[in-house]
Amino acid sequence: MILPIYTYGNPVLRKIAEPITKDYPQLPELIVNMFDTMYNADGVGLAAPQVGLPIRLLVIGVGPGKEEGSELGNFRIAMINPVILSFSDEVVSGEEGCLSIPGIHESVNRAQKIVIRYNDTDFNEHTEEYEGYKARVIQHEYDHLEGNLFTDKVTPIRRQLLKSKLTNIVKGKARTSYKIK
Ligand code: ZN
Repeated sequence: MILPIYTYGNPVLRKIAEPITKDYPQLPELIVNMFDTMYNADGVGLAAPQVGLPIRLLVIGVGPGKEEGSELGNFRIAMINPVILSFSDEVVSGEEGCLSIPGIHESVNRAQKIVIRYNDTDFNEHTEEYEGYKARVIQHEYDHLEGNLFTDKVTPIRRQLLKSKLTNIVKGKARTSYKIK
C-alpha cells in the first residue's frame, strides 16, 4: 500500500522518533508499505516520520528495475532503532533531495564513513561500516529520526534563498507525482 508522504511543515518531521520493539503493531506490513511508498515516489530512502510515524525505522533502496545506473545498485535495507556509533572526520559534499521537501536540491556535507548499529527486520543486531553514497543516504534518513532535515544544513545564504520555496511547501503548493500530506 502506498502511504501519503508528510511534507515540510508537518510537526511529525521535527519530533525525535521513539525506538520500537518487535511487538510494534503490523511492523512487517509497515516496512513493505514504506518500501512501496519510496519506490512509487522514486526515492532512495524513507524514514518512518515521513509517513507520519515518529518511530525509529528507515528503509533504503531503489525500485525494482532501477538498480542499474544507481549508486545504490541492488543495496536494499530496513534499519530498526539505528544508532550511528561514529562519523569519519573526512567530510564530503554532495547534492541531496528529500521526498518531504519536493523540488529542492542542495549540496550537503556528510561524513564520508560511518559505523552504525541497527536491528534488522527479525530484530537481529548488526554493526556495520558504510561509506560514500550509502553513508550519505543513511545519514540523511537517520537525521529524520532526530527531527532534522537536510535544508537545516545548508549555508545561511542558501537557506535564505530557499525560504519562499519552503513556505510554498508549508502552504501546500508543492507539486509532486506522489501523494503528500
Ligand atoms: Zn528526507
